[in-house]
Amino acid sequence: MIDDTIAAIATPLGEGGIGIVRISGPSAIDVAKKIFKAKYNNEWYSGPGFRITYGHVIDNTSGEIVDEVLLSLMLRPKSFTGEDVVEINCHGGILPLKKILHLSLNNGARLGEPGEFSKRAFLNGKLDLAQAESIIDVIRSKTDAGLKISINQLQGKLSQKIYSLQEELLNMLAQIEAVIDFPEDDIDETSLKHINTQSQVVLNNIENLIKNADSGRIYREGVRTVIVGKPNVGKSSLLNALLKENRAIVTEIPGTTRDIIEEFINIKGIPLKIIDTAGLRKTEDIVEKIGVERSKEIINNADLILFVIDASEGITNEDYEIIKLLKNNNVIVIVNKIDINSSFNINELKNEFKDTYITEISALHNMGLEKLEQEIVEKVMGGQVSVDDQLLVTNMRHKHALDKARLHIIEVINGINNGVPGDLISIDIKSAWEALGEITGSAVSEDIIDKIFNEFCIGK
Ligand code: GDP
Repeated sequence: MIDDTIAAIATPLGEGGIGIVRISGPSAIDVAKKIFKAKYNNEWYSGPGFRITYGHVIDNTSGEIVDEVLLSLMLRPKSFTGEDVVEINCHGGILPLKKILHLSLNNGARLGEPGEFSKRAFLNGKLDLAQAESIIDVIRSKTDAGLKISINQLQGKLSQKIYSLQEELLNMLAQIEAVIDFPEDDIDETSLKHINTQSQVVLNNIENLIKNADSGRIYREGVRTVIVGKPNVGKSSLLNALLKENRAIVTEIPGTTRDIIEEFINIKGIPLKIIDTAGLRKTEDIVEKIGVERSKEIINNADLILFVIDASEGITNEDYEIIKLLKNNNVIVIVNKIDINSSFNINELKNEFKDTYITEISALHNMGLEKLEQEIVEKVMGGQVSVDDQLLVTNMRHKHALDKARLHIIEVINGINNGVPGDLISIDIKSAWEALGEITGSAVSEDIIDKIFNEFCIGK
């Protein structure tokens, strides 16, 4: 049982219509009683359920009105955290929010740590770990498709799948342990066969989840994309043309040495994360600007490379220098400026790039871009972008847990096939169960829990 009460500002600090200070814990109502005065309903805190009350936050040392507010009361256990929650909806300016927060802290609450509201929701059994993690993904979604996947996870779709696999494992464990408990009954062939089949089913399910995890990561983190080409081929023009048609989402991450700007372009639901945009914008050749080694590194770390060639110049030595760096099959070759030279012969390129798209466009005149976008989607997703009911693992922590579970199940199957004693097989079944439990939080250490919630923002 958590016995203290936390408070934090739950909305971004800045100017906005509304700002919210959230208070959660056993004395949330007591804290609010000290700083909130209702306009009409003095008994705002009595009665069951949820309600919103109009009134003022008063500085109880000076008696001054701090702001005109709406107070939402959500009683335990049906609130987000499972505790009594008070949310004070004030005007969305830095000062009212800070003053109300300070008053809450001076009247019995302590400052909530990052993610502490969600952590309480988890500890109180309102959400499992996978659901809690999906909250960040919902907040950070880059495209509609990504949002859909995160909402599915928040609704518990991934968790249900994991729970059903865990149940299957428990079932297998019960059968094995019956054999261990009564060793005089020889373990019979049919029950072994049965466990083997069950293991295979669990293994297939896990492998499917792992297989889709790469697409999941793409929705969550974006496709790391780099546009390369010698100077003046039209890299910036291409970027601008893609940006013009598609909403760009720019997030600034205050970094340690410099602020990194991440720019996302939404291509038919897939977020492309453009790497090193600042460098590209200056129309300088990245190879020339940052050196071959660093270029290689960027190219090797990219999920997708858009290699731009100038149709009006043909393929030059400079282009060949870049082609040498492009060993992977994650390249789309873009022949730009076909408005100037529509008779560019792509056969030579076909020799260099056998298994990929070579596509002709004019970035300046918006020609060929629709086809290019389709090719990007196909390259990234194998043509599939519909995510209606798909269960996608988007989180690498979950993928690692699935990888672990997979190895244990394989051990179970090998063990059965090789006549390994039941008690050894049962250890692997338990380990597989625990690995899956890391996803939902049914088997996870406190350190991991702390680490996960620390990634959240304050007030969430
Ligand atoms: P970067 O150095 O690779 O980023 O190239 P820019 O995007 O700055 O383009 C260099 C020049 O080529 C600019 O004058 C562009 O207007 C021009 N340009 C870019 N794309 C096209 C195109 O499709 N057709 C024509 N005719 N000119 C283009």
